Amino acid sequence: MHDYFAQFVQHNNGRLRHDWTREEIRALFRLPFPDLIFQAQSVHRRNFDPTSVQISTLISIKTGGCPEDCGYCPQSAYFETGLKAEKLMELDAVLAQARAAADAGATRFCMGAAWREPKDRDLDKVCAMVAGVRALGLETCATLGMLTSAQARQLKAAGLDYYNHNLDTSPEYYGAIITTRIYADRLETLAHVRDAGIHVCCGGIVGMGESEEDRVGIIAALATLPAHPESVPINMLVRVEGTPLAATAPLDPIEFVRTIAVARITMPRSVVRLSAGREQMSDETQALCFLAGANSIFYGPKLLTTPNPEPDRDRQLMDRLGLVPTGM
Ligand code: SF4
Repeated sequence: MHDYFAQFVQHNNGRLRHDWTREEIRALFRLPFPDLIFQAQSVHRRNFDPTSVQISTLISIKTGGCPEDCGYCPQSAYFETGLKAEKLMELDAVLAQARAAADAGATRFCMGAAWREPKDRDLDKVCAMVAGVRALGLETCATLGMLTSAQARQLKAAGLDYYNHNLDTSPEYYGAIITTRIYADRLETLAHVRDAGIHVCCGGIVGMGESEEDRVGIIAALATLPAHPESVPINMLVRVEGTPLAATAPLDPIEFVRTIAVARITMPRSVVRLSAGREQMSDETQALCFLAGANSIFYGPKLLTTPNPEPDRDRQLMDRLGLVPTGM
């Protein structure tokens, strides 16, 4: 048995760890692929039904014109991507989409707004959406940028179940991707969300030209948070024309699968979501991601503003793999 593997089994006997070191995480990334996948699948089976996949639907309730400069994002006002900025959606239109998502088998409805942070009058409108979506029997999730602790509490009172706020990449690489905020800002909002009693959805993006050490760094940042995020989206960069990262060399899909596996091993009870970038992934890569412990996907033809696989393709892939939506 690989030395590191023996050590892992010994040290991780069913308990959640928040003291992962970069060295340990680096060693996981460098395991022979069969050892890594075996370990990830073993952890996965101890904590989840391996055939069950949670389905979320994500809509953009306020598109474009964002004052942040995230180098991967077509919604930033800094970049010419041809995306038309739109105002905050009306409540009825959001609820119509939520009903359609529920009919298609989604159990969670995520609402994204391209803001640096919500204004209080906008937050009142979002709270009405949260309450309305919840009344349809769906779990609610929002991603609205930075929050004060009072805003987090207001969202919780409206019935928000999850708040998405990604750490994106390692602390060292963050400044190469975003200059309008710092890592500490993200951590502060995450703490407000956690303190308000809202579940945390927090992950990263790979394929942004980062090094392996940056992938180690983002997993280390997530796995050493005071509590693991309940939901960990791992995104593959969608290279959008007009953004600074449009010409980034594509990441080897095997490295992507390794990232999923290491997230699964280090955060054994978190739901790991295969998020942006699925449209460009082969069915075989997605199958490897499920084997590596991914157990959630976004469903629906649009992921905020970039394409997502058509629901039919997802359904067929899940059928071929014998996977079933959670709760069905
Ligand atoms: S990722 Fe979010 S915060 Fe960054 S530019 Fe896009 S919409 Fe704005």
